[in-house]
Amino acid sequence: MSDETLKKYHSKRNFEKTPEPYGSKKTTKEPIFVVQKHNASHLHYDFRLEHNGVLLSWAVPKGFPEDTSVKRLAVRTEDHPLAYATFSGTIPAGNYGAGTVEIWDHGTFTYTGAKGMDAGLKDGELVFDLHGKKLKGGYALIRLKHPRGNPKNEEWLLLKTKEHS
Ligand code: MN
Repeated sequence: MSDETLKKYHSKRNFEKTPEPYGSKKTTKEPIFVVQKHNASHLHYDFRLEHNGVLLSWAVPKGFPEDTSVKRLAVRTEDHPLAYATFSGTIPAGNYGAGTVEIWDHGTFTYTGAKGMDAGLKDGELVFDLHGKKLKGGYALIRLKHPRGNPKNEEWLLLKTKEHS
């Protein structure tokens, strides 16, 4: 993890006022994921995948799809430090993301794309198996070529790819 990759994360927060972590190193071997239920101005689920020492992050307003027929909007947000994966608590009013954060699910994941995760990010197609408590099995994130909302946001679709794992 470097301060450079987390510049945007750090710039949005005052660490004297928010209990959120500034950042730290991790110790486990398998890449981790976390889903945090964030009851902010709008309730959403923050989905984070470890990659290159940070947590790639998406805000998923409607949460995870329960079957393969459902696609859920996932808006890419700034990379977060690995230490954020264990964060839960209250971000005080007046701070970025003010509200409560609880860990909805967490675990490890296996990236299943043939070309690797860097190529997947570049191509806008990430495929992986989640090994969580609630979430198990195959999921995919597909970047929309034509975002529907704010053009500054990267919009992705979150899909369940396997009915059973
Ligand atoms: Mn959030």
